[in-house]
Amino acid sequence: MNKTYSLVRPDAQEWSALPLRPAAWRQMVVACLIGVATTSAAFIADRGWEDLPPEYWDGTYQVLDMFGISAIFMAILFSVGGWFFGRLAVAMAPLVLLYAAVPFTVDGNPSALIWWAGTIAATLWWFFQANFTVRQIRAVHTLAKASGTRQTVELGPIAGKALKRVTRRGICWAAGLSLVAALFWVATLVIAPTELGHTHKELGDLALSDYLTTAAAGMSILALIQWLRCGWRGMARRHVGNSVWHVPVGNGPVQGLWSQHSRDLGTVPFGEAQSLPTCICIEEYLRSDPDEDEDFYETFGVSASNYCPVHGLDQINSLAPEEFRSNATNTWLWDEDSPEPSSAPAEANRSLLIGYAGHAFTGLPARFENGWVECDPYLDYLAPEREPGFEEPHWERPLPPPSGVLDRIDLVPAGLGGYAIRYRHGRAWFEANDRALGSPLIASK
Ligand SMILES: [Zn+2]
Repeated sequence: MNKTYSLVRPDAQEWSALPLRPAAWRQMVVACLIGVATTSAAFIADRGWEDLPPEYWDGTYQVLDMFGISAIFMAILFSVGGWFFGRLAVAMAPLVLLYAAVPFTVDGNPSALIWWAGTIAATLWWFFQANFTVRQIRAVHTLAKASGTRQTVELGPIAGKALKRVTRRGICWAAGLSLVAALFWVATLVIAPTELGHTHKELGDLALSDYLTTAAAGMSILALIQWLRCGWRGMARRHVGNSVWHVPVGNGPVQGLWSQHSRDLGTVPFGEAQSLPTCICIEEYLRSDPDEDEDFYETFGVSASNYCPVHGLDQINSLAPEEFRSNATNTWLWDEDSPEPSSAPAEANRSLLIGYAGHAFTGLPARFENGWVECDPYLDYLAPEREPGFEEPHWERPLPPPSGVLDRIDLVPAGLGGYAIRYRHGRAWFEANDRALGSPLIASK
């Protein structure tokens, strides 16, 4: 039932060397400036500041007038508001300018050539930027092939649904924009016949059709771009293939990834603490932080109390080594700053990205769980693309206490790749073995 994905584990250096798109502001500013320059030059060529000749008012309102005025609206709107669309402005510019070039050419206006020049410049800029995308997808494809592990993985139920939701969301946007555009075109078709053929004098200032066409054309342009994005995303994903990327969390083409191990050490699950009559962890936790949100600690657990008869320091240190080993995955045994006890510590600083295919589909952040690749519930967002020049904040892991060691317990028999170091006055710290063990799929449970 579940689609099988191949597991790809790129080298940290190759992952961080994947090409990034140029900065969003640079792409957007050039596209908007082409829009502004073309609109201004067209205004000058058509001597837009002059009053309309008196005979104009006796002329009738034609389809060409409707599209001409709507095109001017659109060009002005784009010059003023295109900046808010970020990278989308790159694809919008040629479509907006083309929308003006056609009616002004048919009408034989002096500005026709200027609109065409603007359309060509904006199209060239679009192609130039799209070229980066193509280059990136090629590099991603090559890296996926080169760093395949020959392992296959299956997506968990939450991840499967999240992936479908992300795809559906893109299509829903495109369909929604298309529907709005269609409604505006229908409204134009209904209203325009009541206004076309009347003299400008009769109509007064501007016809309602001018506004309706502008809205319809604007929505159509946005819908078209959204469909293009969906298609581009589908193409990129098909080209790169169904892969789950096991990637370093440092500087790569996406940002804000967390290590797949993110359980809270030094805590007791709320249900467990509540069910043990002698446990004082909840009481101590609320005493130290009476304002803590109930939902928070019921979800993430409470800090283990040093004096708890069940989860306290004496309890940890009284465990026989075999007992400790067989309980080693209990979070309360470990200091909150300790590295996570893991079967493959060398892999611990990596995260999973489902379906990464370049910026067109930056992938769903995920982790290994029960032998599946699974997402956090409700977190069905794609990883944010890293902007050039952005550096991930570097976090220095705290060091274990230099003295007070009670003993060291080898955890390899328990399937974990390292030692537990117990301290007289604190919770245990995990120390990874130098050699990475086993497959990350047998993640610590
Ligand atoms: Zn307790």
